[in-house]
Amino acid sequence: MSIKGYAAKGPKQPLEPFEYEPGPLGPHEVEVKVSHCGICHSDLAMIDNDWGFTGYPLVPGHEVIGTIAAIGSDVEGVTIGQRVGVGWHCGSCGHCEWCGKGLESLCAQERGTIVHHHGGWADAVRVQAKFAIPIPEALESASAGPFLCAGSTVFTPMARFGVTPMMKTAVVGIGGLGHLAVQFLAAFGCEVTAISSSHSKDDEARKMGATHFIATKGTDELKQAAGSFDFIISTVGADLPWDEYIAALRPQGRLVLVGIPDSALKIMPFPLLAEKSVSGGSCGGPSDTALMLEFAARSGVRPIVETFPMTKVNEALDHVRANKARYRVVLEA
Ligand SMILES: [Zn+2]
Ligand SMILES: [Zn+2]
Repeated sequence: MSIKGYAAKGPKQPLEPFEYEPGPLGPHEVEVKVSHCGICHSDLAMIDNDWGFTGYPLVPGHEVIGTIAAIGSDVEGVTIGQRVGVGWHCGSCGHCEWCGKGLESLCAQERGTIVHHHGGWADAVRVQAKFAIPIPEALESASAGPFLCAGSTVFTPMARFGVTPMMKTAVVGIGGLGHLAVQFLAAFGCEVTAISSSHSKDDEARKMGATHFIATKGTDELKQAAGSFDFIISTVGADLPWDEYIAALRPQGRLVLVGIPDSALKIMPFPLLAEKSVSGGSCGGPSDTALMLEFAARSGVRPIVETFPMTKVNEALDHVRANKARYRVVLEA
């Protein structure tokens, strides 16, 4: 049976109704019937071919919530109707060092849900069974989608780099990723400073768990915070004065970039001698994401979403492109 969804036929094109024939279900695959799917900035980057590897027609969507509708012949441990989520990754080699360690997102043969593969802005999506991650009961389908990419992207480096409750932390950019990062760090018990260009999100960031707020535009608040943080996570895709952020770290502090700046990082190496690090990070593998979902379910971390019917996908995209989303947009099938 064919799968119906929405596809971009070329860079910066509006999405159009699109139908494709997925062929026989692979032995290690499951088919997920989509109920909800988030809009991530990576969907926009892929629609626009910003990274140069988009295949068209492109069915975007990698913050999927749905139910198992079909199960491949070699798949065990899943049931028809089970609620699952799918994020950036839809498959990996399954036998390399990284897959063996449960770090599938680092596998050289990792496959992206919307990279030469049709994603979740559709009535169904197919993935390797391991990448369809069970959703805890406490999480509502309408708002759980953003955990699958935005949530996993901010949570994975926190878990990987050993963030502890005693740490003083900061989140740069209070948007789709940042609003979850603030909530996770606050739930960990960390002191959390929200960093944004202006004070417009000050009150909301404090409601999410921030105890301090720094506005960067036209102020010296960031400079005054020199030597303050053990862990800074930057969720913005813009060039920032990185030396000021490195100066804001305490000795042995770490700056993690999960937003992807447009150009090369220029940093002065001398301040790094205080054992400071600059790292990248991205959406985790299935076990990272499952750990995050379990932690979110019991700690009360929740995405704040606006929903649009999937039939209004182009309106929803315009809303995200205009930076009006508070804080994440979810499409309802
Ligand atoms: Zn592998
Ligand atoms: Zn994403």
